[in-house]
Amino acid sequence: MTAPEKSKIDAKPDGAAGAPPGAPHAGSAPAGAPAGKPPEGAPKPPAVSVTGDKLKGSDIKIGGKYIGWSTNEDVRKRGGSGGLVTSVLAGALEKGLVSNVVVLKKSNQFEAVPVLTSDVKDVYESAGSMHMLISNPTKYLRHFENDARIGIAVKPCDMRGIREQSKRNMINLDKVFTIGLNCGGTIPPYKIRRVVEEVYKLNPDDVCAEEIEKGQLIMETKDGVHHSQSIDEMELEDNGRRENCRYCIVKIATNADLACGNWGVLGDLAGKGTFVEVMTEKGAEFLKNAIDNGYAEVKAASDPASEARGKVNGIMLKMSAKTKEKVFAPLDGDKLEAFKAELKNCIHCGACKTVCPPCACGPEAKCTSFNNLADSYDISLYHMIRFLHLMDSCVGCGQCSDVCPSDIPLARLYRKFANPIQDELKYVTGMDDRTPPFFEIKLEEVQ
Ligand SMILES: Cc1cc2nc3c(=O)[nH]c(=O)nc-3n(C[C@H](O)[C@H](O)[C@H](O)COP(=O)(O)OP(=O)(O)OC[C@H]3O[C@@H](n4cnc5c(N)ncnc54)[C@H](O)[C@@H]3O)c2cc1C
Ligand code: SF4
Ligand code: SF4
Ligand code: SF4
Repeated sequence: MTAPEKSKIDAKPDGAAGAPPGAPHAGSAPAGAPAGKPPEGAPKPPAVSVTGDKLKGSDIKIGGKYIGWSTNEDVRKRGGSGGLVTSVLAGALEKGLVSNVVVLKKSNQFEAVPVLTSDVKDVYESAGSMHMLISNPTKYLRHFENDARIGIAVKPCDMRGIREQSKRNMINLDKVFTIGLNCGGTIPPYKIRRVVEEVYKLNPDDVCAEEIEKGQLIMETKDGVHHSQSIDEMELEDNGRRENCRYCIVKIATNADLACGNWGVLGDLAGKGTFVEVMTEKGAEFLKNAIDNGYAEVKAASDPASEARGKVNGIMLKMSAKTKEKVFAPLDGDKLEAFKAELKNCIHCGACKTVCPPCACGPEAKCTSFNNLADSYDISLYHMIRFLHLMDSCVGCGQCSDVCPSDIPLARLYRKFANPIQDELKYVTGMDDRTPPFFEIKLEEVQ
């Protein structure tokens, strides 16, 4: 297997995917100058990401924020931002904290598949971020042997799916070690190939890397030339991120054991280090293991680094809220007719149920009995049951829309049911550890 090329299509602070060109960039965050105003006209000290010396494992604390990188030069170079995640996974596997890890195996610049491996070579080779859509591997965690301990890197929506499954006793979270990756959004591979051909006027097979800078999506071709297009303009033509990514409300995976990303990595370390927040005891244990066994180095994140990360996240969430308002504007006219119209091309293949992470009923589910034309009158009961069933568990991952062969905007339809109850209860699926609302419903006998 050849090493994947370095790819950086993240929503970077200075040009977040879909972010307004004016979005702040990490380097412009307030510098960590000590108290006292600098003299008028004095040059600002450069913003730095880290403070102090390299840390030992015993310095790592839950809630701590650090900037880290791989000690392996090659991984550091090929990693999405310094290779910390690869090194933490490799260390966990080699030192026996997990028996297997899920990593990506790249097929080409735009496609990858998740693979389960116990071979550390696969882990090292997977370094780098795949920003195109890949199938969500998390539903399959539930099929692993009970005693298998698995390490996995996940986007926030993947992690939300894992947590919803855990609430429904389908995954034992104690056996899973999760590294969350910040996420600005993903683009389906078929779409990016078309965009590269039609908008960039390039052969997709000539592209060897992607990057986002100052609101531009940059394609680098094998001859070393960079080709740029404005992300905002592309999204106006529906040539950018998936719709659900544009209204996604969790961009930093603080629901994982470690929350990693490049937001907040400033100055010299930009692109060469990962901002990592330790969320759980398990996260601390895995990071300590990587440090003490020489896989990774970390320093404490500076206050400006944390502020820059929070600021970009805030901007991204505001943009999501705006898109959500637009996409979920109240329907005009007859709502049932509107849903019937959207679903009229359903071929009852069941793929939307198969991929849905929080869908918990299995093959004997009630809805599947109604998933055929004979049981459908204008609108299938299969859909009606699922819309109601997913109201308190849909994590907005968009996979139902991705797999639908009839191009039905399913995530939008599911969210139309889920948003009102989740918003009303301030219940963010996969982030909120409260009992799912439907588990709380009590039937009372009517006198
Ligand atoms: C789709 C996507 C969007 C991102 N957007 C942002 C952003 O807007 N802002 C930000 O701060 N950071 C973002 N990141 C995170 C950032 O790109 C780096 O992944 C992160 O900083 C860790 O870098 P690293 O060098 O330590 O990781 P690496 O050492 O390169 O390790 C990455 C690990 O993640 C796995 N992986 C790669 N792509 C995926 C994927 N799509 N799904 C699941 N696993 C994957 C690889 O197999 C590898 O194990 C994004 C990442 C992805 C995948
Ligand atoms: S739904 Fe959110 S977390 Fe998932 S890929 Fe889209 S932006 Fe990333
Ligand atoms: S209904 Fe669709 S968007 Fe919601 S969790 Fe299931 S697959 Fe994801
Ligand atoms: S994936 Fe699409 S076509 Fe298949 S059952 Fe679901 S809505 Fe119908």
